[in-house]
Amino acid sequence: METLTRQESIEVAYEADVCVVGGGPAGVCAAFAAARRGNSVIVVEQANCLGGIATAGLHGHICLYSSWSNGSERVVGGIAHEIAERVVHEGYGIYSGASCDFEVEGMKLVLEKIAAECKRVRLFYYTQFSDVLIDNGQITHVIVQSKSGRQAIRTGMVIDCTGDADVSARAGVPFEMGREKDGLCQPMTLMFQIGGVDYERVKHFRYEEYAEKYPGEETYKLTKVWEEAQQNGDMEPFQKNIMGWWHTPTRPDQLGINFTHITGRSTVDMEDLTYATIEGRRQAYQTVDVHRKYIPGMEDCWMSHSAAIIGTRESRRIAGEYTITEDDLVAQREFDDSIGYGSFFIDVHCCDGPGMDAETWHPPPGFKYQIPYRALVPKGIDNLLVGGRCISCTHTALGSLRVMPQCMLEGEACGVAAHQALSAGAAPRDVDVKELQKALRAQEAIISAEDIISRTV
Ligand SMILES: Cc1cc2nc3c(=O)[nH]c(=O)nc-3n(C[C@H](O)[C@H](O)[C@H](O)COP(=O)(O)OP(=O)(O)OC[C@H]3O[C@@H](n4cnc5c(N)ncnc54)[C@H](O)[C@@H]3O)c2cc1C
Repeated sequence: METLTRQESIEVAYEADVCVVGGGPAGVCAAFAAARRGNSVIVVEQANCLGGIATAGLHGHICLYSSWSNGSERVVGGIAHEIAERVVHEGYGIYSGASCDFEVEGMKLVLEKIAAECKRVRLFYYTQFSDVLIDNGQITHVIVQSKSGRQAIRTGMVIDCTGDADVSARAGVPFEMGREKDGLCQPMTLMFQIGGVDYERVKHFRYEEYAEKYPGEETYKLTKVWEEAQQNGDMEPFQKNIMGWWHTPTRPDQLGINFTHITGRSTVDMEDLTYATIEGRRQAYQTVDVHRKYIPGMEDCWMSHSAAIIGTRESRRIAGEYTITEDDLVAQREFDDSIGYGSFFIDVHCCDGPGMDAETWHPPPGFKYQIPYRALVPKGIDNLLVGGRCISCTHTALGSLRVMPQCMLEGEACGVAAHQALSAGAAPRDVDVKELQKALRAQEAIISAEDIISRTV
C-alpha cells in the first residue's frame, strides 16, 4: 500500500481541563460530572446531538435501573437516573417496569438543556476525533477534524467515550476486539422508526392472538411470524426474532424497531460501516413491508426514519487495570473499588447469523454485580479514562455491561475521577478510590449494598 508522510502545522484552537470524546450515554455523564465539579469540559461529537445510540442511533429504551427481572430494588442512581427522571418529568418518556422508554427527539433536547445548566460544557458537534499528541505518557492535545479544518484541543485529561475506544487505540492502549476464537463482534443493527401503528391492536395480536395460536411460544420474539414470512418468500433470513419494539404513549402511533442484523463486518472500518448502513436500510424497508403484511395493527405503517448512526453492540475493548469477566458477573462479585452495579442478562446476539448466541445467559431474579473502577483505567497512558461500551471486559461480559445505565454510571465515575486526578495532580490509576466513591454517593450513585433503594425506579 502506498503511504504519504508530510509535516503539518495544526492550530491549537481550544483548551479545556477535560476533553470528553464521544457524547453518547457514557460521554454525557462524564461531561456533566466533571463540569459540575468545576472543570471546563469540551465534548467532541461526530453527530449533531448528544445521546449516541440512545438518540442518533434511535434507541429510545434505557434498561435496567433495577436488579434483574424487575427485582424489587433500584441498583442504578446518579446521573443515569437523573436523566431518566428528567425525560419522564418533561413529558418525553415513561418508566416501563424498571426501564425508561423515551422519544429520541425529547432526549436530545433534555441532554442539551442539562449540558447548558452545567455551564462549563462546550459542545463541538460535527467534529471527528482524529489523533492525540503524547508527551511522557500523557496526552497533551486531542486533534479533531471538522468543517473548521484540523484543530488541536489542549487538555489535562481525556475521557474516551467513543464506544469504539478510538482515542485509546490511537494513544497506543492495547485492546481486544470480538470473540476469542475468530475476533467476530456482535452484529450491527440499523434502528428505524415507523409511523401509522395502531398499537393497541398490535398488543392484542402479540399477547392474545399469537399466544393462543402458538401456545408455549414466546410472545416477545414472535418467531413464527418471521418464519412464515420467510417461507412465503417475503423476507430474507437475516433475522429470526424481534429484538425490540420500542413504544412510548407520548407518541402512540410510532414504534422504534430493533430487527436488522448485519454480521461479519468491522465496526471500525469505514467501508464496512458504509456497507452495514446501506444493508441495514435495505433490511429495514423489507421489514416494514413484512410488518404491514403480517402484523395486525400495522397494515398502514410507514417508514418514518432510519438512525443517523448505525447501532454498534460491540467494538474495541481496552486493556485496563482490571478486566471484567463473565465469571465476575455470574458470581455477582463485589469489588472494593466498585463504582456501581450492572444487572442486565448476558445478551449476546449471534455473531455469524440471525438470532441469539449460545453464550446468552439468563440470570436468576435479583441478579446484580459490581463494576470496578479499575476497568475504566487503561494501561499505559497517565491522563486517560474510558467509559461505556469499550471498557476493559471480555466479549461475553460485554453482553451485559453494554447497556446504557452501566455506560452512564461508568461515564459519571470517569468525570468525577478526572476531576479528582486533576485536583491532586495524580494519574487516574492513583486516585483515592474511597474519595471517588464518597463523591459518587454524594450525587446519589449506588455503589454498594447499603446504597440500594427499595423500589425499582
Ligand atoms: C441495536 C442496539 C440495541 C440496543 N438496545 C439497548 C436497550 O434496549 N437498552 C439499553 O440500555 N442499551 C441498549 N443498547 C446498548 C447501548 O445503546 C450502547 O451500548 C450504549 O449506547 C453505549 O454507550 P456509549 O456512550 O459507550 O457509546 P455510544 O452510544 O455508541 O456513543 C458513542 C458516541 O461517540 C461518538 N463518536 C464515536 N466515535 C467518534 C469519533 N471518532 N469522533 C467523535 N465522536 C465519536 C458517537 O457519534 C456517539 O455519539 C443497544 C445497542 C444497540 C446497538
